[in-house]
Amino acid sequence: MNTIYEKVDPENIDMSVIGKAGRIIREGGLVAFPTETVYGLGGDALNPESSRKIYESKGRPSDNPLIVHIAEFSRIYDIADKVCPEAKLLADKYWPGPLTMIFNKKPVVPDETTGGLNTVAVRFPSHPVAREFIREAGGFVAAPSANISGRPSPTSGEHVLNDMNGRIDMIIDSGECNIGLESTIVDFTSDVPMILRPGYVNEKMLNKVIGDVAKDPAVFGRELTGQKPKAPGMKYRHYAPKGTMTIVSGETEKVIAYINGQIESKALGAKIAVLALSKDVTKYRGADLVVDMGHADNDIEIAARMYDALRRCDDENINVIFSEEFNTPDLGMAIMNRLIKAAGHNIIKV
Ligand code: AMP
Ligand code: MG
Repeated sequence: MNTIYEKVDPENIDMSVIGKAGRIIREGGLVAFPTETVYGLGGDALNPESSRKIYESKGRPSDNPLIVHIAEFSRIYDIADKVCPEAKLLADKYWPGPLTMIFNKKPVVPDETTGGLNTVAVRFPSHPVAREFIREAGGFVAAPSANISGRPSPTSGEHVLNDMNGRIDMIIDSGECNIGLESTIVDFTSDVPMILRPGYVNEKMLNKVIGDVAKDPAVFGRELTGQKPKAPGMKYRHYAPKGTMTIVSGETEKVIAYINGQIESKALGAKIAVLALSKDVTKYRGADLVVDMGHADNDIEIAARMYDALRRCDDENINVIFSEEFNTPDLGMAIMNRLIKAAGHNIIKV
């Protein structure tokens, strides 16, 4: 398949390109598009054939449900049942934005889109290109992240091109994503609202609007609990670089000493990368790649660099990766959730 590749400036959107992308979706094709979190791989959410194609093009297991993207709040009532007052409050505060909410689905949403579940995940993204695209596409775009299943999520058009060229009809490239981590997911289908996936909209931000929220223990436990996560995607190996990754946790000086010791003993044979805060970058000697993840007091920067850092490790054929811990107050939970999955729960305390 020949993939159309178009750059679109979010500040000056070329509507002829967006119109073409919308037509492709309405005719059952697939288009990758930018959002404020990561790039999405979009298809018509109400067309079962489109959803089947999404799974196929990513190599994604078909029981891993897709998020339905809308571009106008009122459209939620077409696809979701029992939109409760708490969900409405969260939408008023954080939509459009990096928040996904789960409701019982209406019959118009095909089982193919929800991975066979009777619930539907809905998000209203804030990215201007995403919003225009969703409108032109008919209002309901099903989209997982636009990466080959298992690889780190794409946060630039180039990442998407590397994974999806030749597999989908079109890629819209609007540069780098601001947030760089997938949306927060909150489930409204049980008694208490429950966070199924941490993201930019953190627990404190949710508490402020709707009070207490529960957290899926299978997702937030630091160790594998053996429980099945409620967000099906969280059970799969995800976000993973090709190399073996270890998160080193502890006081900074000890972490640096430990990693440097490992670099020395592994210097022959392995290609080693370290993911480090800016202030520590020069302290790792002898690594093949040291990725500057930014500053601890600017965790949006760390989040935005995460997947690119993992992809750079792959591009440079790194086979051993060490990462510092990035447990910042606001985004730390979302960052560490992805990092721990990328490391396959491989954490060393020093
Ligand atoms: P992504 O993994 O970013 O491609 O987005 C899709 C993810 O949203 C899935 O892997 C699930 O974790 C989650 N999700 C989507 N729909 C549902 C649903 N109905 N119930 C629970 N989780 C869902
Ligand atoms: Mg994904």
